[in-house]
Amino acid sequence: MTLGPYQPLVTVEKMGFMTTLDHRRSITNEVVRRHVADVLALVEAKNPGEPEFHQAVGEVVRSLEPALVLHPRHVDARILERLVEPDRVISFGVNWVDDQGEIHVNRGYRVQMSSSIGPYKGGLRFHPTVNQGLLKFLAFEQTIKDSLTTLPLGGAKGGSDFDPKGRTESEIRRFCQSFMTELYPYIGEFTDVPAGDIGVGEREIGYLFGQYKRIAKRFVGSLTGKGIKWGGSAIRQEATGYGVAYFAEEMLAARGDSLEGKTCLVSGSGNVAQFTVEKLIDLGARAVTLSDSDGFIHDLHGIDREKLEWVKELKNERRGRIREYADHFPGSIYLPRSNDPDNPLWSIAADCAFPSATQNEINERDAEHLIAGGVRLVAEGANMPTVPRGAELLQAAGVFYAPSKAANAGGVAVSGLEMAQNMQLTQWSSEEVDRRLREIMMRIHDTVCRTAAEYDRPGDYVLGANIAGFVKVADSMLDESPI
Ligand code: NDP
Repeated sequence: MTLGPYQPLVTVEKMGFMTTLDHRRSITNEVVRRHVADVLALVEAKNPGEPEFHQAVGEVVRSLEPALVLHPRHVDARILERLVEPDRVISFGVNWVDDQGEIHVNRGYRVQMSSSIGPYKGGLRFHPTVNQGLLKFLAFEQTIKDSLTTLPLGGAKGGSDFDPKGRTESEIRRFCQSFMTELYPYIGEFTDVPAGDIGVGEREIGYLFGQYKRIAKRFVGSLTGKGIKWGGSAIRQEATGYGVAYFAEEMLAARGDSLEGKTCLVSGSGNVAQFTVEKLIDLGARAVTLSDSDGFIHDLHGIDREKLEWVKELKNERRGRIREYADHFPGSIYLPRSNDPDNPLWSIAADCAFPSATQNEINERDAEHLIAGGVRLVAEGANMPTVPRGAELLQAAGVFYAPSKAANAGGVAVSGLEMAQNMQLTQWSSEEVDRRLREIMMRIHDTVCRTAAEYDRPGDYVLGANIAGFVKVADSMLDESPI
């Protein structure tokens, strides 16, 4: 299916006023609405069985309508159609041998979405749910997010349906080495620079980087999230979680408030969740929950520094389950996951929520429960953790809602800083990187809010993030390749 030429009309209407921003011709809201509907229909027709990709594109593209009215050249040049088509989707078999000598075959991917504003950049996810559609959604989101960071980074995502749970160190190592052997030809410091994501932390990045060097015979920044002793950046591990908390602090500061004394719900117990909790503690807030795919804990007394260190050891060293927390710390309870689609974690009364596990973990009813429980702010640490209807409900109820592509951009931003340090053969101090991270999160907040206000939607972080991120990519595409 391809789109036929649309019939441009001769006036532009923006908020009731005629405007002549485009020097060649102008279009109406109606034409743009039709164009957007056509693009969404095209995405569904060309990408069957990829619901997360449809969802991510739909959420972004619908909110771009007011911007497209003001940028008819983006419509002319079919920027949307070009943006939703990955530059390249690489898929490969990953064969590896377990400790018993048995051979396993997994599938690996790299989706290189857009390199308009910089080398492809985005994490690798190792999880049994990984498939091409999931990675296309993540790569698409990453493209808009990376544009917001103010750094020259394109968008990509990759990974494998390999399940690291229950695997030994040596099995993980052999899988990573085999994965990198296949991925190697497609990445490099100026081409595509992967990082971690679900199931890929510093340990896995170490094995992947070691194999990259074995093949390349060069020590270059072809991956980020590296260990501090071998080319990594200070604060990279902490960056996504810290960035989410900094972003939430900015949201509240803009309303004369702060995180001090706020009760916070956090889901997940991996990288993003751990460092969100750490920064929430620094900023005087009280996180009371953590989860994994088996269930969640609720600690009425709050997760303090000592308890958090215990969780880090549990999750990063012993690779244990969050249920152990409730056995260890009196005053906390564990609730196993049930078959119910609603997650009772989101029914706990609180001021703020930080979903930090996975996509679509807040459904429509969960959103209702958050509102009923008094939550006034939701800042997304995970990618697209809220279903579209849930996000609408939160916004309609006046909850300050920061979508992931703005709120969790701190991780990729510090990855960008890691690339800069690698290029300069230098290493900045923790204070320096943290200062830059905080500044970037403030700038993203400022850009998003300014953009939302320009489009007469003050406080709409979804519209602000989507339009600001998109316009930069779209303008670059026009400059580099107008047709
Ligand atoms: P980790 O692998 O470190 O942790 C993931 C956590 O989420 C674990 O507690 C895991 O539980 C839980 N989880 C994963 N999948 C599911 C599921 N299907 N249902 C319930 N729980 C689940 O990953 P990260 O912390 O790095 O990533 C978390 C989220 O943040 C993801 O959406 C990721 O894309 C996003 N993100 C990560 C960045 C980073 O720098 N790491 C950057 C930007 C976004 P279990 O162990 O039981 O699987």
